[in-house]
Amino acid sequence: MAMPTIKAVRAYTVRGGGADYHDTQGYHWIDDHIATPMARYEEYRQSRRSFGINVLGTLVIEVEASDGTVGLGVTTAGEIGAFIVEKHLSRFLIGRQVTEIEKIWDQMYFATQFYGRKGVVVNTISGVDIALWDLLGKLRGEPVHALLGGPVRDELQFYATGARPDLAKEMGFIGGKLPLLHGPAEGDEGLKKNIEKLADMRSKVGDDFWLMYDCWMSLDLNYSIKLAQKAQEFGLKWIEECLSPDDYWGYADLKRNVPKGMLVTTGEHEATRWGFRMLLEMDCCDIIQPDVNWCGGITELIKISALADAHGKLMVPHGSGVYSYHFVITRHNSPFTEIIMSAPNADEVRPAFSPLLLDEPVPVNGRMKASALDKPGFGVRLNPEVKLHRPYAAA
Ligand SMILES: [Mg+2]
Repeated sequence: MAMPTIKAVRAYTVRGGGADYHDTQGYHWIDDHIATPMARYEEYRQSRRSFGINVLGTLVIEVEASDGTVGLGVTTAGEIGAFIVEKHLSRFLIGRQVTEIEKIWDQMYFATQFYGRKGVVVNTISGVDIALWDLLGKLRGEPVHALLGGPVRDELQFYATGARPDLAKEMGFIGGKLPLLHGPAEGDEGLKKNIEKLADMRSKVGDDFWLMYDCWMSLDLNYSIKLAQKAQEFGLKWIEECLSPDDYWGYADLKRNVPKGMLVTTGEHEATRWGFRMLLEMDCCDIIQPDVNWCGGITELIKISALADAHGKLMVPHGSGVYSYHFVITRHNSPFTEIIMSAPNADEVRPAFSPLLLDEPVPVNGRMKASALDKPGFGVRLNPEVKLHRPYAAA
């Protein structure tokens, strides 16, 4: 069967939201006083934008086939990512068969290994990989989930991450994950406020609704254990990303020391099969949470997911919008999924990458039918109103 070859690769930057959902202006719950590793410095405590959480911005990648079909991928790597795509990675794509996804991934990863391995380089590789899966799906006229083996259930169910789990419950979600607001630098007073917040939310949502705390790498081991112990009374389902992603030893210790029944989750800032192998073999957590845009894309997620399955662990991706939905629906060890509430007050469901993409499916009553994903590729397109900038156009 003749498969078109790749004739062009283009990398654009976008400001003002999209894949980089921290790139916001004005009040947004996601930028409010939230516990972070930088909150030990008082001047960076009130806002995450103050220490530069929004510096990268969104990266948009288009991979065009010889028949004119265009695959689209978006991620968080901004202008640095655009440089890597146009100056380095494009050589592994131009002139190649669209079906060479595995080989292209391998070449992108090992060609950048001397300056890459994780972080912004793997974010960029993820974006290119997503664009390739989108392109292959479009050329075959099939959704990406069909390329991955097809759905194992009829619908997805969602929990919502945001400041208002009480509203998430009314919207039909199965749970709500709160950002932890106060870190160790705010002492016992901060810890008390964290527990009061959880208690207040529990009183609003009743006993059966899942409540979780996302700690965004902000805590130390001792604080994490104290928080977990105090939160048990209020039925905290899981405690997420308490420690630095480099502290595998701390996570293993934490998992041994949380109250029975409480889950430890992490991995949104981890990358590749090798990073997740550390988390799994060191028994660092109960659920791994790779972000499809950051972990290495769909090609690497297949391996990460299989590793988790073999270890008897759940793999529930961090955010990742439609890129996550197409994967989660094909795997039994991904029984539910996350949506990050991108509305500033977390009071309505918006598409994950709004306003960048059009045709993004959104959960209704906290659920999404598999049929909502039945479009070629990932089924999304760029919003023509969004201004793209191409900083490193190929000569
Ligand atoms: Mg998180």
